[in-house]
Amino acid sequence: MKIKDIRLKPLFSKFKKPYVWAMGKNLGQITILVEIETEEGIIGYGETAPTFASPEAIYSILQNVKPVIIGQSVTQILDLMKKIFTNSFGHHYLSQSHPRIGNIAFAGIELALWDTLGKSVGLPVHALLGGKLNETVSFMGFVQGDTTEEIATHANQLVKDGYEVIYLKVGRTNKQDIANVKAVRKAIGSKRLRIDPNEAWDLMEAQIMMQRLAKFDLEMVEQPVSAIAGAPALKALKQSCSVPIAADQSVFIPEEAHAICSSGAVSLLTVGLHETGGILGFRRVAAIAHIFDINVCIHGVLETGITTCASIQAASGVPNMDDGNQIMWQLLEEDIVETPDLIPRAGKILVMDNPGLGFILNEDAVGRASEAYHKKKI
Ligand SMILES: [Mg+2]
Repeated sequence: MKIKDIRLKPLFSKFKKPYVWAMGKNLGQITILVEIETEEGIIGYGETAPTFASPEAIYSILQNVKPVIIGQSVTQILDLMKKIFTNSFGHHYLSQSHPRIGNIAFAGIELALWDTLGKSVGLPVHALLGGKLNETVSFMGFVQGDTTEEIATHANQLVKDGYEVIYLKVGRTNKQDIANVKAVRKAIGSKRLRIDPNEAWDLMEAQIMMQRLAKFDLEMVEQPVSAIAGAPALKALKQSCSVPIAADQSVFIPEEAHAICSSGAVSLLTVGLHETGGILGFRRVAAIAHIFDINVCIHGVLETGITTCASIQAASGVPNMDDGNQIMWQLLEEDIVETPDLIPRAGKILVMDNPGLGFILNEDAVGRASEAYHKKKI
């Protein structure tokens, strides 16, 4: 099961409609498809989703992985990832000082290694990690829209689709946010409501906004203030507001998970495979949160169904999983996963038992997304 080749394909995927969040409006996304082939001809797939970094810079970093893993056994994932982090740059600076960048870049390699190993031995990744604790993973209804009317209409549709947790991006103007939250609360009745300002507020603004929005019965506010401000800002906010707080951008690595959880500032970690560097990094962060009786909630970046499948494999064996997890592929005009059907039914997706990460790629869709990247059809 030695690795014969690794191929990197940058893809551009257009959104069905502009994706509106605190950072602006996105018309589409760039991901990097990672293909690993063994000497036996098994091909595994992963993806790097460089939402927080320049795709071209991340692609350049990934070029250094090839000489590290060619000829090595796909059964040695821990050792290969260690070598990739410490050797592929010719020095140790990236892994020692900037592990967040390494995690963003190399998550796709880790996912592809797991997919390749699973396919090589005919087992789903969750089985290789000790098995699944649950048959399904639960997801929230992710509200989309630009105007308050669009947002309220979509929120109402998500309730009709069976979602128990409704999730809204805020962090626009304070006036818009209050109008949107009010309209969504009206549209979803007594369903659970979570909001995410994506670090848009400073501490005082967050204190004011959370006091104003608390009357709409918020279940959770995610990363209201800058991640760089760390646990002290989140703790100060917690002391002034009764709404539970989640940390998202504050936590990429185990050390950050420990610092944030031990501070007592947050009630939930929302974190994804691209922040943690893959499935094993996510499991490490989840294990730390578990010590503090804190659940983890899979959260997405700009990604395809590959990450949805990998997230389900990772989450299925975690005892402290939350039930408001996130998928992002549904924003795309065309996903690159052919099967399984990744549309949640009553908010749930069955854990895949197919070998590897459990999906089959739509090669034609990959071809179109690759062509779109090279033509820069943005
Ligand atoms: Mg978030």
